[in-house]
Amino acid sequence: MDHALSMMSPRLCVTVTAATTAELRTRRDEVADADLVELRLDSVVDPSVAGALAGRRRPVIVTCRPVWEGGRFAGSEEERRALLSEALALGAEYVDLEWRARFDDLITGGGGRRIVLSSHDFDGVPADLPARVQAMRSTGAEVVKIAVKATRLADCITLLQLADRSRGLVLIAMGAHGLATRVLAGRFGSMWTYAGMETGVGQIGPDTLVGQFQFRSISESTQVYGLVGAPVGHSVSPAMHNAAFRAAGLDAVYLPLPAADADDFVTFARAIGLKGASVTTPYKVALMDRVDESDAVARRVGAINTIHVAAGRWLGANTDVRGFLEPLRDRVALSGRRVAILGAGGAARAAAVALASAAADVVVHARNAQQAEGVAMLVDAKVGPWPPSRGSWDLLVNCTPIGMYPRVDVSPVPAEDLTGRIVYDLIYNPAMTRLLGEARRAGCDVIGGLDMLVEQAREQFYWWTGTRPPAGVMRQAATKQLALFSVEAEGPRSSAI
Ligand code: NAP
Repeated sequence: MDHALSMMSPRLCVTVTAATTAELRTRRDEVADADLVELRLDSVVDPSVAGALAGRRRPVIVTCRPVWEGGRFAGSEEERRALLSEALALGAEYVDLEWRARFDDLITGGGGRRIVLSSHDFDGVPADLPARVQAMRSTGAEVVKIAVKATRLADCITLLQLADRSRGLVLIAMGAHGLATRVLAGRFGSMWTYAGMETGVGQIGPDTLVGQFQFRSISESTQVYGLVGAPVGHSVSPAMHNAAFRAAGLDAVYLPLPAADADDFVTFARAIGLKGASVTTPYKVALMDRVDESDAVARRVGAINTIHVAAGRWLGANTDVRGFLEPLRDRVALSGRRVAILGAGGAARAAAVALASAAADVVVHARNAQQAEGVAMLVDAKVGPWPPSRGSWDLLVNCTPIGMYPRVDVSPVPAEDLTGRIVYDLIYNPAMTRLLGEARRAGCDVIGGLDMLVEQAREQFYWWTGTRPPAGVMRQAATKQLALFSVEAEGPRSSAI
C-alpha cells in the first residue's frame, strides 16, 4: 500500500433506525456526536421524508434500503423512488441510492450532487470491484459507497487497494473482519465511516468508536496494534490497551483482529503497517513460526503471545510467563512448593515454565495424559492423575476453561478436595469462578485470572511503547468491559427495532 497517500480526517456518520418517523426524528436528535446522521427510512412503518428532515440540526443522509439490498423497505420501487426523489427536493444533504436500483435520472437531475451511490455485497468481495467502482463513478455521483462482506482480514486490504483520495469514496468491509475499515476509515480513503446499532453488518456504536477506539484522533501517524486470534470478539484486550494508550497520551489504536488463518494475519499486518500484536488462541504456536526472532522465554514455552515490529523485523515474546508469576510474587515463596497444574494447553505451558523458573515442585494433571507428559517434559516436571488427588498440592493452578463463561456452574476439582493453601484460576470471566468460590469457602487464598491478564498486557504495552501504563488503568478498563459483556449477554433492554 502507498503509505505516502495523505490521510484525511473522515467524518462520523451515525445511522439511526426506529419504529416510526416520529421516533426516528427523536433518535436523530439524541445523537450526541456525529458529523452526519443517516436516517433509515426503511426501518419505520410510516416513512415520511418531510417528517424525518424537519428541524434537523445536523446534515443527514436519507436512506431507504430495499429488502433486496439488505434493508427493510418492502414497498414497491416506485414508492421508494418517490421518497428518495422527495428527499432530494426537500434539500437532504445526501440521498443514498443503490447502484443496482438504476435511479439514473435522480443522479443526473442534480449533476450527481448530494448523491451517495451505494453497492452492498453481503456474501463476500466481488471479483469485479475495481471495474464496479469505475462504473459507479462514471455516473457522476458525488460519493461512491462500496460495502462488501469480509470473511478474512485480507479482504480489508482489497479495499485498501481501491483507496483514492481524489474522489468521494466510502469503503466498508462488513462483519467482524472488516472493523479496520471503520476505525481506520481515513486510511481507506473513506469520506466518512458509519457507526450505530446495525450490528448485523458489523457496525459498532458511536460510543465505542469514539470512546474506545478514539476515532476522532486517528490520523495518518497513528500506530496500529491489535489482538490476533479466533474468536476475539469477547476479549477485553482492546479495552485495556486502548485505555492505556489514551492514559499515556500515545497516538496509537488497538483493534481486535479475528484472522482466518496465520497467513491472513500476516497479509493484513504488513499491508496496514501493524506495529505490534497480542496473540491468542489458536495462533500462539503458528505465529511463532512466522516471526523473525523469538525471545528465550517464548522459545522455552514453544509459543508467543506478543509480536513487536521493530525496524521491519517481527519479534516474538511470551509475556504470559511474567504475567502469571506477578500475582504470586508477594503471596507465596514458590521454591519447593507443591504445585498442581490443571490442563495441558498453552496457558499450562506458560505456567509450567514460570513455576519451574521459581523452583516450584510441579505436577501436571490433564485428561489427556500424553499432553500432560508433553508439558511436564518442558520443565522436568511429573505427571499426576486427573483430577489431582486430595492433599497432593499447596498451590492449585487451573489452566483449563472449566468454569469459564457461559458454563459457569462447573469446577475441575471436587469441593471436598480443596485442602491446599492457594487456588489460582486463570479464568477471568467470571471473576469469581465456582472453583474459586468453593476454594475460598474451604479456607484457601484465591487468585483470579484478571490479575494475570492485566500483568501480561502491561508487559506487552511496556515492550511496545517503553512506558508502563498508569496503575489501575488496564484493570478498570477490563472490569468495565466485562460488565458490558455481561449486560449484552442478558439481551437488549429495549425493543429497538
Ligand atoms: P487451550 O490451549 O485450549 O488448553 C486448554 C486445556 O484445558 C487443554 O489441556 C484441554 O484439554 C483442557 N480442557 C478443556 N476442557 C476440559 C475439560 N472439560 N476437562 C478437562 N480438561 C479440559 O487453552 P489455554 O489457552 O491454555 O487457556 C486455558 C484457560 O486459561 C482458558 O480459560 C483461558 O481463558 C485461560 N487463560 C487466561 C489467561 C490470563 O491471562 N488470565 C491467559 C491465558 C489463558 P484437551 O486438549 O483434552 O481438550
